[in-house]
Amino acid sequence: MRTHLLNDTTADRYRRSVTEGIERVAAKLAATDRPFTGIAVDDLAPRIDRIDLDRPLHDTTAVLDELEEVYLRDAVYFHHPRYLAHLNCPVVIPAVLGEAVLSAVNSSLDTWDQSAGGTLIERKLIDWTNERVGLGPAADGVFTSGGSQSNLQALLLAREEAKSDNPAKLRIFASEVSHFSVKKSAKLLGLSADSVVSVPVDHDKRMQTVALARELDRCKRDGLVPMAVVATAGTTDFGSIDPLPEIAELCSQYGVWMHVDAAYGCGLLTSLRNRDRLGGIERADSVTVDYHKSFFQPVSSSALLVRDTATLRHATYHAEYLNPRRMVQERIPNQVDKSLQTTRRFDALKLWMTLRVMGADGIGELFDEVCDLAEEGWRILAADPRFDVVVRPSLSTLVFRHIPSAVTDPADIDRANLYARKALFASGDAVVAGTKVGARQYLKFTLLNPETTADDITAVLDLIAGHAEQYLGESLDRAS
Ligand SMILES: *Cc1c(COP(=O)(O)O)cnc(C)c1O
Repeated sequence: MRTHLLNDTTADRYRRSVTEGIERVAAKLAATDRPFTGIAVDDLAPRIDRIDLDRPLHDTTAVLDELEEVYLRDAVYFHHPRYLAHLNCPVVIPAVLGEAVLSAVNSSLDTWDQSAGGTLIERKLIDWTNERVGLGPAADGVFTSGGSQSNLQALLLAREEAKSDNPAKLRIFASEVSHFSVKKSAKLLGLSADSVVSVPVDHDKRMQTVALARELDRCKRDGLVPMAVVATAGTTDFGSIDPLPEIAELCSQYGVWMHVDAAYGCGLLTSLRNRDRLGGIERADSVTVDYHKSFFQPVSSSALLVRDTATLRHATYHAEYLNPRRMVQERIPNQVDKSLQTTRRFDALKLWMTLRVMGADGIGELFDEVCDLAEEGWRILAADPRFDVVVRPSLSTLVFRHIPSAVTDPADIDRANLYARKALFASGDAVVAGTKVGARQYLKFTLLNPETTADDITAVLDLIAGHAEQYLGESLDRAS
């Protein structure tokens, strides 16, 4: 069994084994003609059920053959130009190389004595990102597992900085289309069930600052404590960017922590043409960035940034075995002092490799391309009477729905759109997402693949219209 351990004597096995895996994936990527096979849960589950984990195959090639059956054949492939569903990007090769290196070396970023250069590389990338955000000289941060964790940690810091002895009085303000992790975080932080105040959005799905001011006022008048405002820079559904300068103004007026959730919009930090859309982000107390959404990085790669490094102390605990207090005096950089996690992946290496090979402008170019494509898609949708499109994109999502020519019952329109999404998924021809706007069912394209073209968009819209019409035709037949 020792031959399976990665060490000085097994370099050849390592090379052969990993190369064999890479060859399979490369062949798969080349041969994928649809984003999905459309397989149903009930058809895939038995193949996985059948495998007896207590009877190993002892042969890498055989295991890779098996993996083809249980995973690779029917995976959902984000690199395919007709995968248009969620905030999943195709990944860049330098980052995948970084992933291979980091898992083989297997550094853990909690302490210096488990990572050395890894710690310094992560710190430099945090500084680099902070420079782009403009958070100032005392800024700091840490890599996290994702935007949800970054938001949780930001709100933890905000809760502690609010210095209230009664958590039931704390209030968080976030727009009605902010990410659900805000509410989940409030619950994890022991805040009351009504702690998150939902602020209405305008026609473009941006937080209404007049309403925010009103809510902040009301909060004070009711003797409650405003703990944080969460501004979203790139809402998950619409890509809308809350008015950051006005929100920053209100936060300083009311003395409230300003958190910017830029999990999605952070891609603009590398854009040469559209960076100004993030104007005002530099006034935040904390920022969430998800490199695994708009920097073309493999999952996971994310960070929490803070304006003032001192605020990270709220996540600091010392353990004798790991990061004793004296190490702080000895100036030994232990990232665990800043993190909610202990053992932690060296995800930063992927971004490092990406920046060293492609440069930041390279990422920005790719992100600009998908934003341009969304703009083009919006024009296509707006000109097509079969569809209703919700907002003109600030980033790269399009929310729309099919409006059949003959039907007037809104429930039928909802059902037709739901059906079209499901039918498309089952066909494997394309994958799109869905969401609700008000009470109504909509469809969504999240465009993160620069290989997707306007022709892909047109073709997928035709498929959607076809499925919706077919559904309505059949259900009307049934009704008559
Ligand atoms: C995706 C997203 C999150 C959550 O990030 P994960 O990396 O999925 O945990 C938070 N906020 C916004 C706006 C997002 O789009």
